Order: sequence, then C-alpha cells, then structure tokens
Amino acid sequence: MSADTRELVVAGSGVAGLSAAVYAARADLDPLVLEGDEPGGQLTLTTDVENFLGFPEGVGGMELIQRGTEQAERFGAEFQHGSIEAADVDGQPLELSLSTGGTIRTRALIVATGASARWVGADGEEELMGYGLSTCATCDGAFHRGDDVLVVGGGDSAMEEALFLAKFADSVTVVHRREELRASEIMADRAREHEDVEFAWNTELLAIDGSQEAGVTGATLVSHPEGYPSERYENGEDVTVEDVDVGGVFYAIGHEPNTEFLRDTPVELDSDGYVRTTESASWATTATAAEGVFAAGDVMDRAYQQAVTAAGMGSMAALDTEEWLESTTAVAAAGADTPQMEADD
Ligand code: NAP
Repeated sequence: MSADTRELVVAGSGVAGLSAAVYAARADLDPLVLEGDEPGGQLTLTTDVENFLGFPEGVGGMELIQRGTEQAERFGAEFQHGSIEAADVDGQPLELSLSTGGTIRTRALIVATGASARWVGADGEEELMGYGLSTCATCDGAFHRGDDVLVVGGGDSAMEEALFLAKFADSVTVVHRREELRASEIMADRAREHEDVEFAWNTELLAIDGSQEAGVTGATLVSHPEGYPSERYENGEDVTVEDVDVGGVFYAIGHEPNTEFLRDTPVELDSDGYVRTTESASWATTATAAEGVFAAGDVMDRAYQQAVTAAGMGSMAALDTEEWLESTTAVAAAGADTPQMEADD
C-alpha cells in the first residue's frame, strides 16, 4: 500500500462518526473525519437531548457534538471539510473523490453520513425553502415571533419542533396525515398538553403561498376523515380543501439516508437507500458488502435512529474496522513472508 494511503476515513461528523473517530483514534488508526455537508449532523439541529445516558439534566445537541469533536481530536482524529462525491470501493485501496476536489486513498472507510430531511412535495416548496419554509425549528424558529405556523409530521421530530416553535409563534398547528401520532407517548403528551399547539388530523399540505421577498403568507391544506387525503385528492375523491393564513411552515416528516455516492458500488443499499450491513455467524456487524467499508448510525439504521444508538454503532464500526485492518495486515504480511521462505529453502 503506498505511503499516501490512509488507514481509515470516517465519512460524517455526527454522533456516529464522532464515536467511531474516538474509538479509532484511541486504537491508533489515525482517522480522518470528513465533516460532510451538514457538519455535526442532526444533533446540531436539536435543542435538548434528554435521553443520552449520563446527562440527567439533558444536554444541548450542539454541545454534545462539540464535546464529541474535542474528544476525538484529543486522541488524534483529524477533521477535514467536505464530503464524498464518488467512491471506488471495488478493491484496495478504496478511492474517495471529494466535493472539495482531490482524491483520498484509504484502506478502510466508515460511512456515517446520516440522513437528511425529507420534503413533502407541496407546490411552492422549492421557491420558499429557507424563506419561511424550513426543516429546522431550532435554526429558524426565532424568525416566527407572533406568527401562526404549521408543522408537518406526526413523529417525535414534529412534536419537538412544535414545542420549540410554541416559544415564539402565536399558534402552532401540527398537520398530520392520519389520526394517530407516530411520536413516543411522552413527546406526544407534551405537545397535546401545550396550550398553543393544535392538531389538524387527517390533513396534508398541498401548497405553500408566498414569495422570497414576503416569506410564507399562507398554505393550502387538504383533509379527509379517513386520512391520507392528498392521495385521495389526486384520485379525484371528495376531500376538503382549505386555505390558511400562516407565516411559516416546518417540515418534520423524517429523513433520507445520505448514500448517493454509494449507488452503483458493491455496497448494498435497501430500497430506501439505507446501507445494508452484514451478519457474522451469530451477531450483527457494521461491515458492508464491500471489503473495508463499514457503516454506522442513521445511514444504516432505519429502526432506532437515536443519538445513543448512533454513538453505539459508531463504536461498533470502529471495533469492526480495527479487527478487519489487523486481519488484512496479517494476511498481507503472511503473503509477503511466503516467497521469502520459499527463497530461503
Ligand atoms: P418518523 O418517526 O419517521 O416520523 C415521520 C412522520 O412524518 C410520521 O408521522 C409520518 O406519518 C410523517 N410523514 C412521512 N412522510 C410524509 C409525507 N410525505 N407527508 C406527510 N407526512 C409524512 O421521523 P422523525 O419524527 O424524524 O423521527 C425519526 C427518529 O428520530 C425516531 O426514531 C424518533 O423517535 C427519533 N427522534 C427522537 C427525538 C427525541 O426523543 N427527542 C426527537 C426527534 C426524533 P405516518 O405516521 O403516517 O407514517
């Protein structure tokens, strides 16, 4: 392997990538962490994290990431801006083409690129994203003092966004396509009990009105007593369509894994683009179908998606990588020894 080939690149600097970097740096693998398009990942868009073990009073998402970064740096992890645009992972070394230009060669790669916010597909969203339409209440909530705002979604993210926005907005309406929330009981109860949070059940967003100059000024909602109204609307069924005056719209309908650069590579993805990891004889691992490529966090986890599980998987990926690097180094050394022994004979 040439001198410019690294041992390990960690793609992503969210909680999974940072945890992998801490473990890998402590194992002397000199990891290079590519920070990605959203440095620090989704926790940087969160207010308080109340369920990360060891923080009985809760901890700010940004603080957790900053402390994790310091921890990884303390053990020697190196950080670099940019993300992977294309990856050649067919053989060794792996070759990563970066968004910032240039190529990195590495023996191992931990994919911890996380997932990005999903968009609804409502009319007007392309023009208004960032102009009153947002996927991050923590980032943009303070712009909506005194506004009436909508939050689209029915999961924990939607509850969290609604509760955060209620600090600034006059009213927050959670627009959910069904009658039951997907959110955990504790989050759902908090939102239900808040006097400024209302729910529009069996309702979806068809369009957002406004302009980049004026921001969001209104929205068109569709509803049907049996849920999933936009599908019914498209099929010509009898639905209720209503225009509402709102000053902001927030999307909280889940995320898409950031795996575009792995399409058409030996790394297997499922139908939604999540990385498939393999199993050993008796336990799940973080290895992928490509030799030397491992994955951790939301990019491969469609079930749990918690900060603490992502941190756990990051550490698993670093341990799996360390073992793989050691075993391939041993095989290479044995391979190098063999001709020598034959020559001695
Ligand atoms: P999620 O749990 O997948 O919920 C997404 C919500 O958006 C669902 O209610 C879904 O409706 C709705 N939805 C999806 N596509 C839609 C579309 N095209 N139009 C309208 N509605 C749509 O996603 P999440 O809320 O982002 O949470 C992801 C994970 O992070 C979860 O495991 C969650 O527990 C965790 N999380 C935890 C916290 C916390 O504990 N503080 C905070 C945030 C997130 P249906 O219900 O009908 O499918």
